[in-house]
Amino acid sequence: MADPLNGVYKARQSPRVVVSRTPSGARPGRANSALSLRFERITTGRTASRQGPRYWRPEEIGSGVAQPRVPWLRYAGGNWTGVRLMRIVMIGAGYVGLVSGACLADFGHEVVCVEVDATKVDSLREGRVPIYEPGLSELVLANQAAGRLTFTTSLKAAGRGANAIFIAVGTPSLAEIGSADMRFVHDAAREIACVIEDFTVVVVKSTVPIGAGDEVERIIAERAPRDRFAVVSNPEFLREGAAIEDFKRPDRVVIGVEDDRAREVMREIYQPIESNGGPIVYTSRRSSEMIKYAANVFLAMKVTFINEIADLCERLGADVLDVSHGIGLDDRIGRRFLNPGPGFGGSCFPKDTLALTKLAADAKAPIRLVETLVDVNDKRKTAMAAKIVAACGGSVAGKRIAVLGLTYKPKTDDMRDAPSLVIVPELQAAGARVVAYDPEGLRTAKPLLPGVEFADNAYACLEGADAAVVVTEWDEFRALDLARVKASLAAPIMVDLRNIYPIKAMKALGFRYVCVGRGFGGEG
Ligand code: NAD
Repeated sequence: MADPLNGVYKARQSPRVVVSRTPSGARPGRANSALSLRFERITTGRTASRQGPRYWRPEEIGSGVAQPRVPWLRYAGGNWTGVRLMRIVMIGAGYVGLVSGACLADFGHEVVCVEVDATKVDSLREGRVPIYEPGLSELVLANQAAGRLTFTTSLKAAGRGANAIFIAVGTPSLAEIGSADMRFVHDAAREIACVIEDFTVVVVKSTVPIGAGDEVERIIAERAPRDRFAVVSNPEFLREGAAIEDFKRPDRVVIGVEDDRAREVMREIYQPIESNGGPIVYTSRRSSEMIKYAANVFLAMKVTFINEIADLCERLGADVLDVSHGIGLDDRIGRRFLNPGPGFGGSCFPKDTLALTKLAADAKAPIRLVETLVDVNDKRKTAMAAKIVAACGGSVAGKRIAVLGLTYKPKTDDMRDAPSLVIVPELQAAGARVVAYDPEGLRTAKPLLPGVEFADNAYACLEGADAAVVVTEWDEFRALDLARVKASLAAPIMVDLRNIYPIKAMKALGFRYVCVGRGFGGEG
């Protein structure tokens, strides 16, 4: 039978952790005289399958051999051992780099984030996190204070002696062409080549085309001996808005590795996740790169599929929410990503779907399904503007339209490829005066939406408007006092592109309520 103590435990006071000793009969809840450790069960609130003995941790650390900077203990096969902590460099302190860096530091590793944008580095050094992501500021500050997370603009100083250097720079769409722009990844590879001394694992975390790892390897090998480094693919699957939870308790970690030494380093880096039951999937490098694209494109396809079913529901008088529920209960299909709306946006789906179509076409294996979904999704945003115009009686010329929500989804301030960036200018082009409010996205949205009046809160936004439009489903919009909303509006028209309000209640209040895919014309 497996030892119930097996797992990884985080010590609170790292300077006095005893490692590599075998406590005889140590059991949770009892002091162990040999090590003076006392254990306490932690209730985690996690799902049953993830609860259990793995969540015990040392509560008190007594006398013993001082082992500074070893905050993790592993108990396996009757032995306590320290988890090897890694020196990690994260190139790029954007969304993925910053979240990954902070989480890896929180696992106990020593992380240096290298970022070209000096303003970002200054801001981070002063404890100001430049993006909005729930819990991220707290995590960054805590790990900075513990000395495990630092920021710099210089890879030269940070890179030497690193066990692993992660590349987490952007891979945007190349204008006109649509394939991934690899400029930043290749620049990072060239910089890495100049700092490698001892064996270093180069981890490509950015989303990159299949075969990109080979190119990174080739670039580094121009300057560094091949036996001093190994290139690994480790794509990131975090969702903005839930990024920390996703990183720390992922559905899976995918590692594309073909070098045994690199595999061991990666295993140590992700040991805390593995010990908590997170599946680690080891594949070839190319398969790992493909997994990332295939996963994103599949999810984008689900969104696009339900959007088209929603349109059909509006024609035929069915309710898409019932349909989503009815098909989603089939676990071959699953309920998630079946919420109709104004089309997908964000920093990943649009560029990754496009990049895969280019990649497939170049490989002479075009994926027509994905080509179509890119086209359908692009047109949907314009169609949503037309839907708003229709709900306003066929014209918005001279009308004041209140837009609630601008970011591509809630709980982020990210405006990359947000549907609002198409819908709002379309409304303006049709003669509307747009007033908008977003709980966290105003700072990022303002420079992107010229001619828009921005309000400080939802009610101010709605005041005197000829129609309200929900573009992003922030929780605070769900909780609005709908009677007050109606009283604030000049005309009681609500176009809800996220289906957040109950049709019956809206009708009872006297709204003209138009949503997506719920009965004829989306009107219930
Ligand atoms: P981002 O634009 O927010 O961050 C990239 C950062 O890298 C920027 O701060 C930029 O200044 C910095 N940078 C560029 N070149 C550099 C260099 N040579 N040295 C140091 N810093 C450099 O991008 P992101 O959203 O974090 O995405 C990064 C990668 O991760 C992309 O490939 C993306 O597709 C992928 N990804 C993103 C998400 C997401 O939700 N944002 C999720 C999964 C995967």
